[in-house]
Amino acid sequence: MKTILLKNRPKGRPSVSDFEFVENDSPLEIKDGELLLETTYVSVDPYLRGRMSDAKSYVAPFELDKPVHSGIVAKVIASKHTEHKEGDYLAGMLDWSTQQISNGEGLTKVDGEKAPLSTYLGILGMTGLTAYLGLTEIGKPKKGETLVVSGAAGAVGSVVGQIGKILGLRVIGIAGSDEKVDMLKSKFGFDEGINYNTTEDMTAAIAKAAPNGVDVYFDNVGGPISDAVLFNINHFARMIICGAISVYNNTELPKSVSVQPFLVKNSALMQGFIVSNYSEKFPEAMKHLSTWLAEGKLTYSETVVEGFENIPQAFIDLFDGKNKGKMVVKI
Ligand code: NDP
Repeated sequence: MKTILLKNRPKGRPSVSDFEFVENDSPLEIKDGELLLETTYVSVDPYLRGRMSDAKSYVAPFELDKPVHSGIVAKVIASKHTEHKEGDYLAGMLDWSTQQISNGEGLTKVDGEKAPLSTYLGILGMTGLTAYLGLTEIGKPKKGETLVVSGAAGAVGSVVGQIGKILGLRVIGIAGSDEKVDMLKSKFGFDEGINYNTTEDMTAAIAKAAPNGVDVYFDNVGGPISDAVLFNINHFARMIICGAISVYNNTELPKSVSVQPFLVKNSALMQGFIVSNYSEKFPEAMKHLSTWLAEGKLTYSETVVEGFENIPQAFIDLFDGKNKGKMVVKI
C-alpha cells in the first residue's frame, strides 16, 4: 500500500518535494462494520492548495506528515459492512492511498453502469454541484442576460457556461489558450471566448464580447481578470466569487482595485460561495445535472493522468492550466 503525505506547507507554488510517498507492506485487516477500499480515481482540485497552508479558512488545514485527502472513487475489495459489499464503488473524501480502511461514513455508492466512474468526481460530483448551485443560487440568472465565466475551460467553468446556455443566457468564457477558447465554443456552446494570455486589454475585450454589459459573473480566478470584468458590470449585476486560483500561490497580499465604487454605483452584488453550505440542495442539483447529461444538453471534458505516483504533479499542473475540464488521476 502506498500513501502520499504532506511533507511541507508549500511556500508560493507547490512542488513535488512538498509531498512524501510512503509504503507499507503489512496487509490491512478489517473489523466488523469496516470496508477495505482500493482507490480507482483521485480528484485533484485547486482548493486543496488552501488546505496545504495553515491560514484560517472554512476547512481545517491538512496536518503535516499525514495523508492528503480529496474526492476519490474507490472499489470495495473486502467488506464487513452491512450496506456495502465487495465490488461496489464508493465516492467521498478519502486519503491519497492506494488502499485504505473505512467505516463507510460520508461515502456514497456510485454506479459505473449509469455514468463513467470518473464523472462522480466532476460533472456528477463536487465541481458539477458547484457550477449549478453557484450560478442558480447566487447568480439568479434571467433569460437573455449576459454571463461571463473565468476559468471557463476548467471543471467548474465549463459546466457553468453550459448551464448558462440551457437557461437562455449569452455566455462569454475566459481561458488561457486559443485551443481552450475554441473548445468553449465548439464543444460547450459558449457564444464568445477570450484568451487572457494573448489579450492585452481585457477590459476592452470583455466590453466587445458583452456589448450589453455583464449581468452575472462567475469568478473562478480572481486578480486582474476579475477586475476587468468588474469594469463592465451592469446595474444589479451578481458576481459569484467561487474561487481565486490566480492568487492561491501568492506570498503577499494581492494589490487589487477598489471594488466598492463599482458595487455602489451599479447596486451590484458580490458574494463568496462555498458549495458545502448548500448541501440540502445537492439532491435537486444532482437531478438537474444527471437529467441534462442523459439528455445530451450537458457534456464534459476530462484530463485523465495515469498512475498513483503522478497525483502531486497533476495537482501542481492545475496552476499551469494543463487540464481541459476536470483533472483526475486514474490509479
Ligand atoms: P479547473 O478545472 O478550472 O482548473 C484550474 C484552472 O485554472 C486551470 O486549468 C487554468 O486554466 C486556470 N488557472 C490557473 N492559474 C491561473 C491564473 N493565474 N489565472 C487565471 N486562470 C488560471 O479547477 P476547478 O474547476 O476545480 O476550480 C475552479 C475554481 O473554483 C478554483 O478557483 C477552485 O478553487 C474553485 N472552487 C470553489 C468551490 C467552492 O465551493 N467555492 C468548489 C470547487 C472549486 P487556464 O488555462 O484557463 O489558465
